[in-house]
Parts: sequence; C-alpha cells; structure tokens
Amino acid sequence: MGRLNGKVVVLTAAAQGIGRACALAFAREGARVIAADINLDKLKELEKEGVEVHYLDVTSTKEVEDFAKKVGKIDVLFNCTGYTFHGTLLETSEKDWDFSFDLNVKSMYRMCKEFIPKMRQQACGGSIVNVASVVSSIMAAPNRCVYGATKAAVIGLTKALAVDYVKDGIRVNCICPGTVDTPSLRDRLNARPDPQKAYEEFIARQKMGRLGKADEIAHLVVYLASDESSYVTGQEFVIDGGMSL
Ligand code: NAD
Repeated sequence: MGRLNGKVVVLTAAAQGIGRACALAFAREGARVIAADINLDKLKELEKEGVEVHYLDVTSTKEVEDFAKKVGKIDVLFNCTGYTFHGTLLETSEKDWDFSFDLNVKSMYRMCKEFIPKMRQQACGGSIVNVASVVSSIMAAPNRCVYGATKAAVIGLTKALAVDYVKDGIRVNCICPGTVDTPSLRDRLNARPDPQKAYEEFIARQKMGRLGKADEIAHLVVYLASDESSYVTGQEFVIDGGMSL
C-alpha cells in the first residue's frame, strides 16, 4: 500500500531536479500525479511513469487560473519552482530582483490562491509543501542576495498560510534544502569562469563532503505530503547535510 494512495498531487517545476524526483516518488507511493513545467519535452518523459503532464508558466496568473480549472480534486500542492540569481546586491538589477520574486514567491501566491479554495471546498483539507532553501532566513551564502531574500519570503508565506488555514485542515510546510545536485546547479557551475574551481567551492561548504541528491529531498517531501505528517504545520524543514551547522 502506497503512502499516498488515493491522493491527487499537483506540482510545479516537475521536469527536472527536485521536482522530477518528487513527481516520481509521489507516483511510486500511489498518488495521481499532475505535473507542470514550462519544459514540456522533458516533462513528457514522466508520462511513461503514469504522471499527467501540463505546460504551465507559473509567472502567468492567467495560465495558473486556466490550469486550476482543469484540475478537480486536489490533496497535495507541491510548489517547487525557483530560480537562483548569482550576485551581490550591487550586481542585482531591478529586473533581476523583480523576476526572482515573481518566480520564487509570487508563483506560490498564484498557485495557492487557486488551489486553497478547492481544498477548502472539498472539506477534507490538504497539504501544501513549498520549496524554500537553507539560504534564506536560516543562513547566508555569498552572491545569493535576492535569492536568499526570496527564500526567506517563502518561509514567511508558509507560516502565514499555515496559521490562516489550519482550521480548514490545510497544512502548509516548506523544505529548506542545502546544495542539491540538479541540472540547474550544473548549469550554474558551468557558467562560472572556472567550473571545476566553482564545484570545489560548493563541496568545501558541505559538511558531509558531498552534494545532496534529489531523491533524498523527495523522501522528506513525501512525508510532508502524506498523512504521516498530520500533526505538522507551519514549519521549515532543513535538509542540508549539515551545511547550516
Ligand atoms: P532546476 O532549477 O534544475 O529545475 C527547475 C525547473 O523549473 C525546470 O524544469 C524549469 O523548466 C522549471 N521552470 C522554470 N521556470 C518556470 C516557470 N516560469 N513555470 C514553470 N516551471 C518553470 O530544479 P532544482 O535545482 O531541483 O530546484 C527546484 C527548487 O529547489 C527551486 O525552488 C530551487 O530554488 C530549490 N532549491 C534548489 C537547490 C539546489 O541546490 N538545487 C537548493 C535549495 C533549493
């Protein structure tokens, strides 16, 4: 018996990295999985695992509204989209700042605004899991100015939603990963002047001497999505191999 049998899970950023690992884990645990991303080609790879896929740009309010109309029942919403802008405050243009907040935070506002009413109408509650980061209000990292600010906002948003909808049986938590080996992390390394040196710098700040794996993050997300975490709400879960110690 799967830990998510009978549940409908909707997630964003499902085409690769943490989102993809979670989509596969949700499906393995018996959920009906509705996965969204802007990278439809990569997303379609999930179809053979029984995952339903939808093109969705979470920076478009209209697209989020139209997408929500296509989804009936929902038990779990996993808001996974996020973008890492590399730079100090002085290197962050107003455009970079606004884009980061739009994709990392306002996207969650848009998704929650559509799906919380559905969860309330169903009268059987639900679980929302947002992806923050350990680089947020928990700790700083160099060149992560706007990124850290957005992820701190995700933690604040998570707590605000948790307290406002607890009486509706809706639980809201967020995860705070450290450095996880995903395609975008590899892209960020390759974009640096010396990718090998950049990789070594990333490893040097890992207490376990290695990067996290997307599957390791998925185990925590499945727990928060499932009824095993029925008494847990409004919390940020650090999963960082000790990076913040
Ligand atoms: P990733 O960056 O490799 O992939 C992100 C996915 O989001 C891609 O499939 C992309 O197509 C999709 N996407 C981008 N813009 C979108 C949009 N407008 N609408 C819908 N989908 C869009 O994934 P990742 O590295 O696993 O990161 C996933 C989440 O985890 C992000 O929120 C990220 O900030 C967070 N996180 C990652 C790490 C890490 O080290 N990888 C650490 C902490 C937190």
